[in-house]
Amino acid sequence: ATPTALLVGTGRGAQLGILIRGPEVLESTRRVDTIVLDKTGTVTSGVMTLVEVLVADGEDETQVLRLAGALEHASEHPIARAIAAAAQERSGVPLPVPEKFKALPGLGVEGVVDGHTVVVGRTQPMPEQLAERLAAVAGGRTAIAVGWDGQARAVLVVADAVKPTSAEAVRQLRALGLTPVLLTGDNEAVARAVATEIGISDADHVIAEVLPEDKVSVIRRLQADGRTVAMVGDGVNDAAALAQADLGLAMGTGTDAAIEAADLTLVRGDLRAAADAIRLSRRTLGTIK
Ligand code: ADP
Ligand code: MG
Repeated sequence: ATPTALLVGTGRGAQLGILIRGPEVLESTRRVDTIVLDKTGTVTSGVMTLVEVLVADGEDETQVLRLAGALEHASEHPIARAIAAAAQERSGVPLPVPEKFKALPGLGVEGVVDGHTVVVGRTQPMPEQLAERLAAVAGGRTAIAVGWDGQARAVLVVADAVKPTSAEAVRQLRALGLTPVLLTGDNEAVARAVATEIGISDADHVIAEVLPEDKVSVIRRLQADGRTVAMVGDGVNDAAALAQADLGLAMGTGTDAAIEAADLTLVRGDLRAAADAIRLSRRTLGTIK
């Protein structure tokens, strides 16, 4: 394509809510055959709410929320926001400030609150006593264990809705000949429920329980299989994978780290713009080389 055509393509992209890093990006956009979708904040709204609090015998719900909320208040993760907001709302008084705090990306948070060593997230097992109640309420939702002083004591269940445009986006991407793959750090059951909701039914195309640093290996593995891979993400956790992909797409509603690592930004955070970008590149460059 001529430089003029590329510039026109870039300008047309801006009208569609697609910011393109440089005209050369359209070439890699045209070639992708596989599109990896981060779950939280990309396929789903990323706005989580606390829907259930399960506490083990002898534990106090208010105390659970106070300690977990205090720690999560210091984290930016969507799960953290849901827990901190609910804790704040229910306690009515300001949450304590942690004496120590550490974020464990893709796992949770830990620290010291009111003299207790508190952990929130998947670095600890679920309290055994709560297994049955948890199975009844948690199907397709994210369950977060809360413990302190060496003992798991409660489970917080959070839920996040699939964006109304995600299923349509997947349908369009497929119609363009791409293979959509769902990638998440969340558990298998949640990943499968979301995948089904957006029309990804092949279990091989649902990759769950992936640590942030391993998302990039998933991209490399697909590339080693001979695929040309696009990755769509929004989180700090996605930045390395976005950079590794043949084409990185960031949600405009996501973090600066994701936007900086990406080749394209979908300004409105609407996944359908990924299909628009593919169509635009094909139209600009022609489908035949
Ligand atoms: P995704 O890949 O879907 O964007 P992440 O990699 O950010 O998800 O997180 C993966 C999992 O790690 C979450 O489902 C949750 O179980 C746990 N986790 C991450 N951050 C936190 C946190 N701040 N508090 C509790 N759990 C967390
Ligand atoms: Mg995300």
